[in-house]
Amino acid sequence: MADPLLKAARDAARSDMFKARMAELIAFRTDATATDAQIDPYLDHIGGWLSALGFDLHRLKADGYPFLVARRIEDPALPTLLSYSHGDVVPGMAGRWVDSRDPWALTEADGLWYGRGIADNKGQFLVNLTALDTVLGHQGALGANVIWLIEMGEEIGSPGLAQLCATHRDLLRADLLLASDGPRVEADTPTLFLGARGGVTFRLDLHLREGGRHSGNFGGALRNPALVLAHALTTITDRNGALQIPDWTPGTVPGATRAALDGLTPAGGAIDPDWGVPDLTPAERIHAWSSAEILALHAGDPPRPVNAIPPGASAWVQLRYAPGTPDTDLSGALRRHLDLHGFQDITIAEDGPTFRASQTPVDHPAVQVAVASATRRMGRPPVVLPSLGGSLPNDIFREGLGLPTIWVPHSYPNCAQHAPDEHLPAALFPDATALMAGMMVDIAAAGKSALT
Ligand SMILES: [Zn+2]
Repeated sequence: MADPLLKAARDAARSDMFKARMAELIAFRTDATATDAQIDPYLDHIGGWLSALGFDLHRLKADGYPFLVARRIEDPALPTLLSYSHGDVVPGMAGRWVDSRDPWALTEADGLWYGRGIADNKGQFLVNLTALDTVLGHQGALGANVIWLIEMGEEIGSPGLAQLCATHRDLLRADLLLASDGPRVEADTPTLFLGARGGVTFRLDLHLREGGRHSGNFGGALRNPALVLAHALTTITDRNGALQIPDWTPGTVPGATRAALDGLTPAGGAIDPDWGVPDLTPAERIHAWSSAEILALHAGDPPRPVNAIPPGASAWVQLRYAPGTPDTDLSGALRRHLDLHGFQDITIAEDGPTFRASQTPVDHPAVQVAVASATRRMGRPPVVLPSLGGSLPNDIFREGLGLPTIWVPHSYPNCAQHAPDEHLPAALFPDATALMAGMMVDIAAAGKSALT
């Protein structure tokens, strides 16, 4: 029998209004170069939509960065859902999109909707807003309170977000984070994830002398920093990419995590099955274990080498670490590892934004409610990823606000977020909106006591 709520949600996501709103969101150039002149109108615009649904609006600043907190309180005794979205996007990269597409306009081709931010994260915000709008139209009230936190700096590491959450704990008091970002495992597979790996980048430098030395006159009798650094890097993983620093890993994969990932092909299957830690499945390697990648390597003068032993060499090594990894001294763990292998003269410096790992346990009661809802409403169980392979400010909600965190991603692996041609399949929106509407209603109906 057709589920009338889901039908209403699907119809809403197929409506002209949904498409018009999507175009409006994309047209705001809210990339990192945006000034307040563009950020503020974006927050005004979505604030208008939220007030029309009965939210009261709080425009706040933390660390100089703007935030919108919107609250819709039906009854303080009811459960409160905290939602989160980000309105900033990565740069448009105009000129690099196929068919000269304008990144700041919604365009359509072959069943795909294109536009900067449609996947990350404006389109996902609109899906959730439309889901809530549908529920309120369908049954008058949600049966829960909703607080919506919108930031405009996620792509640059969420500056001010932790401070905002610490300063405004009362304003943000909730029972559960239910939010959307990132990709489903496949376009047509409802997916939940419960946390995120952490990330930190280390710059490794070996500087041996002031200038280059002639590779003929000195070669064979003078240490080459590029060679020494390359040998050091080979101690960080084995030749199949398996991390060799035990203190950078969680040590073990919990049984519930292992069960959740059983049978899953990660990353849309675009992986090398023999790459990574041998005792783990590919899904566990991404969603339950740590990995180290070399992001960049530098020595000499590429791409035009000269006949000289370069004076120094540098590498940027990024650790993605799984929840459960002790993370108070990740730099020290690398130091001890390099020292142990005789590379005391390589210096280590953290470089770039860092993200902390965090995760809600797979067997948390709130997760069970969400999984049961998705299973019943969509006719099959969702994929549950203990943690996203990439990074999100999950720790601010999980550790900072102490909430169970459930993310329901509405994007898909080929969405080209952070690249030209960002897009989503049009067919995904009705499905995602229906999933979300059902989940909001079911979580509300479960009540506070079922969520803790
Ligand atoms: Zn992003």
